[in-house]
Amino acid sequence: MSKITKEGGCLIVPEQVTIPYIEGDGVGAEITPVCQHIVNIAVKKAYGSNRHIEWKEVLAGEKAFKQTGSWLPDETMDAFRTYMIGIKGPLTTPIGGGIRSLNVALRQTLDLYVCLRPVRWFQGIVTPIKEPEKVDMYIFRENTEDIYAGIEWQQGTPEANKFYRFLTEEMGVTKVRFPETSSFGVKPVSIEGTERLVRAAIEFAITNRLPSVTLVHKGNIMKFTEGGFKLWGYALAEREFPGQTFTWPQYEKIKKEKGEDAAAQALLDAESSGKVVIKDVIADAFLQNTLLIPEEYSVIATLNLNGDYISDQLAAMVGGIGIAPGANINYDSGYAIFEATHGTAPNIAGKNIVNPCSLILSSVMMLEFMGWNEAAMLITAALEHAFSEGKATHDLARFMPNGQSLGTKEFGEYIVKIL
Ligand code: NAD
Repeated sequence: MSKITKEGGCLIVPEQVTIPYIEGDGVGAEITPVCQHIVNIAVKKAYGSNRHIEWKEVLAGEKAFKQTGSWLPDETMDAFRTYMIGIKGPLTTPIGGGIRSLNVALRQTLDLYVCLRPVRWFQGIVTPIKEPEKVDMYIFRENTEDIYAGIEWQQGTPEANKFYRFLTEEMGVTKVRFPETSSFGVKPVSIEGTERLVRAAIEFAITNRLPSVTLVHKGNIMKFTEGGFKLWGYALAEREFPGQTFTWPQYEKIKKEKGEDAAAQALLDAESSGKVVIKDVIADAFLQNTLLIPEEYSVIATLNLNGDYISDQLAAMVGGIGIAPGANINYDSGYAIFEATHGTAPNIAGKNIVNPCSLILSSVMMLEFMGWNEAAMLITAALEHAFSEGKATHDLARFMPNGQSLGTKEFGEYIVKIL
């Protein structure tokens, strides 16, 4: 079996490829085998014996801790580095022990700076919104910076006190309302971090012929961090993609110089010539707009914390975390880990009722990333077929007018039958 490599900016995927996987804790043991079986069948159906995935198990989480005494053994990180692309089930967050989150550790160690969440609706899925078919977005969430980077000090510790003294004595800060009882956090947002995220989002929009990239931020309040994200994002689009994008500041400039009609015409011309429109919106307005005018948004580029909230709201709008796929990607090195976005669901583990679709759709993203689009399309079409017949696991089927609840294994077998 062979390894994926990256040469001259291109991913080279051998026909017989090894993919490391983490089974995952809790429901991981149920969804992972179902997902792998479906992928194997789809690859065989699409390419016969010409292409094949050899799954290589690597350990993380509770299973790793029980077998090796480590929550995230070095061998696991080595395997992801060696094979470049991997997939994982959900992991229990260890309590105590110095690891904030295994997922965050994996993302930070491999510098997987994009958390990509595609959000689309499948015919047949019942959702809380009236027109879910209008939701078709790709969220590019920055994964390594922001208040989420974990630079914080607990109230009452010497570190928090020291930090407070630094703020007041050296930085002249007078705004901390309750200094004695405050914890503190730091929110780093950089030009490099913003640019690589926005670049990946724009390149994705260009490659997939998508109409727009929206920068979602709270720059109206956090002017240098989130406001910087907006300004640096626009500057990057105009500098690196001048012939392929049309930005909102360019629209405003034409409006100021030549009037509203000329600006509107320039926008129409840009859209009809296939340019990607780069716009921005304040995060709270964006969350409202996702419910009111979701069709106005396509690719979303946003900071870490905003992206966390946005991802779950959008997932809920098309059926919930049970069918929301995700990936953490470094578009420069090519390292990528595809993952179920839900947690270990301990309350339903071992009951054969968990929905395996988040991991299955993450494997579809993985196949697309590898360029194995035919196999990816087969799986997507099989899921569309099953949902349109009302066949799904209980979490989804219970809301469908024609719903027929299938167990996790039985749902997997039904998808295989369709394939
Ligand atoms: P959870 O996602 O595990 O569960 C939340 C609710 O959604 C539960 O009622 C659960 O039964 C349900 N649910 C989740 N996935 C489902 C699926 N595929 N099909 C049907 N129902 C599903 O979140 P939690 O309970 O807050 O967290 C449990 C553990 O998972 C914690 O240790 C947490 O840290 C961890 N976690 C891991 C990840 C990850 O590895 N990516 C993500 C979130 C939480």
